Amino acid sequence: MSTPSPQPGIMDISLYVGGQSALPGRDDVVKLSSNENPFGASPKAIAAFESSSRQLHRYPSTDHASLRGAIGDVHGLDSDRIICGVGSDEILHLLCQAYAGPGDEVLHTEHGFAIYKITALAAGATPVEAKERERVTDVDTLLSAATERTKICFIANPNNPTGTMIGGNDLARLADGLPKGCLLVLDGAYVEFAEDYDGGLSLIESRENVFMTRTFSKLYGLGGLRIGWGYGPREIIGVLNRIRGPFNLSHAQLAAAEAAVRDREFAARCVAENTRMRAWMANALAELGVPSDTSCANFILARFANVDEAAACDAWLKEDGIIVRQVASYKLPHCLRVTVGDEASCRRVVAAVRSFKEQTQ
Ligand SMILES: *Cc1c(COP(=O)(O)O)cnc(C)c1O
Repeated sequence: MSTPSPQPGIMDISLYVGGQSALPGRDDVVKLSSNENPFGASPKAIAAFESSSRQLHRYPSTDHASLRGAIGDVHGLDSDRIICGVGSDEILHLLCQAYAGPGDEVLHTEHGFAIYKITALAAGATPVEAKERERVTDVDTLLSAATERTKICFIANPNNPTGTMIGGNDLARLADGLPKGCLLVLDGAYVEFAEDYDGGLSLIESRENVFMTRTFSKLYGLGGLRIGWGYGPREIIGVLNRIRGPFNLSHAQLAAAEAAVRDREFAARCVAENTRMRAWMANALAELGVPSDTSCANFILARFANVDEAAACDAWLKEDGIIVRQVASYKLPHCLRVTVGDEASCRRVVAAVRSFKEQTQ
């Protein structure tokens, strides 16, 4: 007897570690470790989710036409070129499964999202990392790392966990400079929190090698329900639909997401609050000697003097019931990523960091 061996690459995957969500013995925890919406989901999405319980015995739609129509209406997109998935994670997996395999390379940036490496390895491809410039995506290092074996280049714009982003000219230079046949995937998990940015739509419309992914997990507060979508050239959507599970999304997911994307008023209010509290918290922390890069997302990456100070502050915050995210696995061991919470939570973070700084002086 012998144990079956998995495909090459799979055992090289480090298990994904999610943000911590509880502290033993505390019920006043503020969870700022997973970039969730502090206001939860739209009441309309919750109502739609609840009514979907009457259809539990029915198979859901396989073509997601109603949700795709709603996304198309809201964003002014051709709904035939939208694909919906179990979080944008599923779309990222489908892209790798379809376009990268053994012998191929998948490019991502130094502090890029953990899933890019995981999904490349899961497909048997080789992940390749390009250095960033001071925690910002660097088009030059990406282009020089690309070879004829590079099949996909993933960038999150704005990026997690840095919160920084690159502009339209840089994106176009990247799309045009990649080798022929290499797909540029713009992960737009945080697009809605950036000002005057459409996620790279004009780039997608004018090229054949650019694809965008989006999610309901961040702005729409539906991370627990798992819904994301992708938009790109018709040919790519046709490829991904062949390998997508026909019933990948349940009634509950489809109904809640549709109600969420149609509730523009709730979404606008959440964006406005995020913008206000993000600036307030970043300034207040900087005044305490904890700087951060200007964030275009719903979190800030707080920089400490060194690894020890970051770890000590993390422990201090936990003592105070505040959970933030250590990002050592993103090669940023001297930083902590702090989700922008509601006003009370942001004030708690700043007060706790102030007392941390005072007691260490
Ligand atoms: C949170 C996040 C996602 C979203 O993942 P879902 O599977 O849609 O929940 C995608 N990309 C990045 C960079 C993220 O931070």
